[in-house]
Amino acid sequence: MPLEIALFPALSDNFGYLVHDTASGRVAAIDAPDEAPIVAELEKRGWTLTDILITHHHADHTDAIAPLKRRFDAHVIGPREESGRISGLDTLVGGGDTVTLGETVFEVIDVPGHTLGHIAFFSPADKVLFSADALFSLGVGRMFEGDAEGMWKGLERLKTLPGETRIYCGHEYTLSNAKFALSVDPENAALKTRANEVQRQRDAGEPTIPATLSDELAANPFLRADTPELAQAMNLSGAPAWQVFGALRKAKDNF
Ligand code: ZN
Ligand code: FE
Repeated sequence: MPLEIALFPALSDNFGYLVHDTASGRVAAIDAPDEAPIVAELEKRGWTLTDILITHHHADHTDAIAPLKRRFDAHVIGPREESGRISGLDTLVGGGDTVTLGETVFEVIDVPGHTLGHIAFFSPADKVLFSADALFSLGVGRMFEGDAEGMWKGLERLKTLPGETRIYCGHEYTLSNAKFALSVDPENAALKTRANEVQRQRDAGEPTIPATLSDELAANPFLRADTPELAQAMNLSGAPAWQVFGALRKAKDNF
């Protein structure tokens, strides 16, 4: 296992991530929410930041680019489609590109919807996905810029990744996501089990991350928009999955 992953809280409910390619010693921050917790984690582990991988333009993912660049002279990689809205990017990437961190290779996957140019980073060798605000555990990001059809298409691509893929998302929203999920998919046994586990984790002060893709496929209602159960829950039996997805997203906005 050549990739070590450090997960820590940042800002009010963001996750901070550092990934360490043990073969080369290179260390990347996945997004740049806040300088202080990132620097503290680097010091705790004795790592030096070499790269920053940015998923989308929102401030809670980009605010620390400038101070981290100043401090470490780190190389910053981010979404080509949002280059006009993010300052400090050195390398621009989009879906189908790869990003290397020493011997670790990340595939870039387009996941539009929360923002139009949102990208995710997937390492096939390590089977880890950094999905930021495109896909949460038991939920998805709010659809600020895209449309339901495009967002569903990105999620459909994520659904094809290996089931054992560990998903590291942008925020600790799992408990509130579970409440909505249960409201639209109340008979789902896998969801009930997961919701209980999430409650236990939060009570114990533990993060609910990572979740595996196979668990999400069974319990996340947004990934289940192509099932008869969720179509029926949205009164859209027979409709295309993206329409069910759009209805779920709207229902969550008003939940
Ligand atoms: Zn965001
Ligand atoms: Fe965010």
